[in-house]
Amino acid sequence: MNLVLLGPPGAGKGTQAKVLSQKLNIPHIATGDMLRQAVGKGTSLGKKAKGYMLKGELVPDELVIAIVRETLAKAVVEKGFILDGFPRTLKQAEMLDEALENIGKKPDVVLYFKTSIEKSVARLGGRRVCRKCGANFHVKNIPPKKDSICDYCKGELYQRKDDGEETVKRRWSVYAEETAPVISYYEKKGTLREVSGDLDVGELNKILIALFQREKLI
Ligand code: AMP
Repeated sequence: MNLVLLGPPGAGKGTQAKVLSQKLNIPHIATGDMLRQAVGKGTSLGKKAKGYMLKGELVPDELVIAIVRETLAKAVVEKGFILDGFPRTLKQAEMLDEALENIGKKPDVVLYFKTSIEKSVARLGGRRVCRKCGANFHVKNIPPKKDSICDYCKGELYQRKDDGEETVKRRWSVYAEETAPVISYYEKKGTLREVSGDLDVGELNKILIALFQREKLI
């Protein structure tokens, strides 16, 4: 199954993508994670992307499109994929269609995770991410068993620099300007399904599995 997850920052796309990826055994491709890795390693892509990411701006299309093209060309997507955080502009959406067409694929369903800016600020302000395995926690909603330590791999938990309130608000305006048109793009194609990003992870997961079954995707 080829899945695309869209929605504003803090709508729960990444958390849900991780659960779905494990359950359905298909890779989770998150451009934000790939870019953060590049920044961490100090690669030339990372050096170019860092400033945009810190400010909550989008990294230029050419840079992001190149890493997605590379990933989609690999055999890892043979059984399908979960794209999280891509496409974020109309240009990226068009490029994705073209790249998938070249390998005889298309997005089966595009999930639009809807939430409010208030919920997003509260979620992202309390979010803690594992440096080692990328697992997400929340100081109140999903607290780790031990403070600042990942339950799964014992890695150190940290707060993303772009999760502060001001940057989250900037990310929302960038989303409204650049990413909202991508929602209409998929709505016109008939592949868009709106879901609530406000539900808890397990509850939303059940709804999604039922949706995939109804649409005969699993
Ligand atoms: P995320 O982890 O999805 O919240 O992404 C974190 C940051 O990475 C974003 O605020 C952007 O700066 C950058 N980014 C991630 N995906 C994309 C994309 N598809 N296009 C442009 N920039 C992106």
